[in-house]
Amino acid sequence: MTARPFLALPDEAATQRLGARIAAGLQAGDVVALSGDLGAGKTTLARAILRALGHAGEVPSPSFAIIEPYEPPAVRLPVVHADFYRLAHPQEAEELGLEDYRADGALIAEWPEQAGGFTHEGACLAIHIEVGPEGRRAIVRPGPDWLGRWDDSESA
Ligand code: ADP
Ligand code: MG
Repeated sequence: MTARPFLALPDEAATQRLGARIAAGLQAGDVVALSGDLGAGKTTLARAILRALGHAGEVPSPSFAIIEPYEPPAVRLPVVHADFYRLAHPQEAEELGLEDYRADGALIAEWPEQAGGFTHEGACLAIHIEVGPEGRRAIVRPGPDWLGRWDDSESA
């Protein structure tokens, strides 16, 4: 096994490369669950994914609006970028119409645990970003649906 669960993210360029790798494999129905403390780099990674999917403009942090949808042709497939930090109850995710957005697109979720978590879904790519004394690193856990699409031997 050459599994390499930790990816070093020494600088923002490494985060951009990780975003491009995620975007390359992204399909409708997927969830990219981005966890980690405030300032870890979740929004930075979400922006990198959206840019690699073709989005050229600004990517506002959805921390206030909670969800920001992106539609083709600006992006390769419909994507909803969500930040569930402010949800008081996981059920509120349903009231946002999340299922409608997810019907034909992918979800990039910050604070996924606030929406009940998505790691039980086969199409979930869970990325946890840690900020340690030696810098940032990502712990990547691909769900079963991602196994053919994610090469653990690659670095960021
Ligand atoms: P979060 O969404 O997790 O709260 P943000 O992405 O908004 O975090 O902020 C991360 C901050 O850390 C940004 O100011 C970014 O410029 C900085 N940063 C420094 N190094 C990195 C890195 N390797 N990856 C991502 N962000 C980084
Ligand atoms: Mg954020």
